[in-house]
Amino acid sequence: MAARLAVSRWRAPLAAAGPGPLLSCRRWSGARADAVYDVVVSGGGLVGAAMACALGYNIHFHDKKILLLEAGPKKVWEKLPETYSNRVSSISPGSATLLSSFGAWDHICNMRYRAFRRMQVWDACSEALIMFDKDNLDDMGYIVENDVIMRALTKQLEAASDRVTVLYRSKAVGYTWPYPFTMADSSPWVHITLGDGSTLQTKLLVGADGHNSGVRQAAGIQNVSWNYDQSAVVATLHLSEATENNVAWQRFLPSGPIALLPLSDTLSSLVWSTSHEHAAELVSMDEEKFVDAINSAFWSDANHTDFIDSAGAMLQYAVAFLKPTKVSARQLPPSVARVDAKSRVLFPLGLGHAAEYVRPRLALIGDAAHRVHPLAGQGVNMGFGDVSSLVHHLSAAAFNGKDLGTDYGLCKQMNAPLLNMMLKKNKHLLFSRFNKFTLH
Ligand SMILES: Cc1cc2nc3c(=O)[nH]c(=O)nc-3n(C[C@H](O)[C@H](O)[C@H](O)COP(=O)(O)OP(=O)(O)OC[C@H]3O[C@@H](n4cnc5c(N)ncnc54)[C@H](O)[C@@H]3O)c2cc1C
Repeated sequence: MAARLAVSRWRAPLAAAGPGPLLSCRRWSGARADAVYDVVVSGGGLVGAAMACALGYNIHFHDKKILLLEAGPKKVWEKLPETYSNRVSSISPGSATLLSSFGAWDHICNMRYRAFRRMQVWDACSEALIMFDKDNLDDMGYIVENDVIMRALTKQLEAASDRVTVLYRSKAVGYTWPYPFTMADSSPWVHITLGDGSTLQTKLLVGADGHNSGVRQAAGIQNVSWNYDQSAVVATLHLSEATENNVAWQRFLPSGPIALLPLSDTLSSLVWSTSHEHAAELVSMDEEKFVDAINSAFWSDANHTDFIDSAGAMLQYAVAFLKPTKVSARQLPPSVARVDAKSRVLFPLGLGHAAEYVRPRLALIGDAAHRVHPLAGQGVNMGFGDVSSLVHHLSAAAFNGKDLGTDYGLCKQMNAPLLNMMLKKNKHLLFSRFNKFTLH
């Protein structure tokens, strides 16, 4: 009964969920000997799987029990598919370093990825342009298929199976929090109920269950969210001719940014953020028209006006006069010849930000903690940043023999001070100025 109550608490309307874990804490009879894990990661997407790997390969966690729960099935690959996946991520060098630290980057290198050394971002309505490049030709980042990253993480999890248990097709359906004070007949750990009715306990629950995080909702952590009224259309594109293809291109159209990310000498990946209606049109139009629309989006100057062009030229002249710097030459993006059949898909876009990332016995990482627009290619990189930071604190706690659920530097710097301050002090301002925000 108690378990059922806790589960229904999670499913109750958010407004009724109350201020935090206290409301859903309960006595645990102790009659059942559930397995107790040191850390349970709920959600085995890119970020949750990286978290489980990072712990599994951390020297101070060699004697700890780690569990990764993933609602979906295990993706099994015989060999790398010839066709590129339409879901790719721009991976920063910092994220590559994290993935290297537990051996996953080597697998990615042995499968496939594309380094880029330059990024050109420019405006469709003016001559405004910004170029990022590295004089020393270091890699600026890497375009990697999400499936390739996941395959690399899965391989490393398989190799660490004595330290990390992974349960696929295992959806967590209820979480129950311990009392904040010790009672003789209460359990000090978080209790987790799975879809098949089984239960387990953990000293620390890490919510990596995506932007609709059930962990965040069960904990009653407030989340500011915003729908952009935009969808991103992704597709795999064949270029008109083979090129060095080591530039990431992004152009700001009046309707939203369009990006072309290199995959190979002849292939690039598209991420085109635009209105929902236009996105639906783009995925349903015939292939030739779609390719024309992409080329025109990158090449056409139809949105230029003489006034903005001359104002921009004057500004540029003034800036160059006041602060002469080396100006990188504008480059022309490659033209697109065709699109991979069935690679066109759209994703509605939104922003989300949890008011707290950590609480006793709980941490949120990845999209469960923060969801951002893909235009800067930062979502999963921020999630990997969470992994680095949390593992750093947990590793120190484990080394010092401290309680993992309360002593990981709890963790003012890991919470979101700015957002907390806005939420607590300026709620009225936030909502009157940005009335599309919702708080739940
Ligand atoms: C079009 C597009 C392009 C993008 N490009 C980039 C980019 O170039 N670079 C970048 O850094 N980011 C990019 N992002 C963002 C990035 O994809 C996300 O930030 C990232 O995938 C989030 O990973 P996650 O593991 O936190 O969440 P998710 O990928 O949502 O994974 C959550 C996992 O939790 C599981 N789960 C959910 N509930 C439960 C439960 N109750 N029990 C067990 N398991 C559960 C789900 O099955 C899922 O596997 C892009 C996003 C979009 C939409």
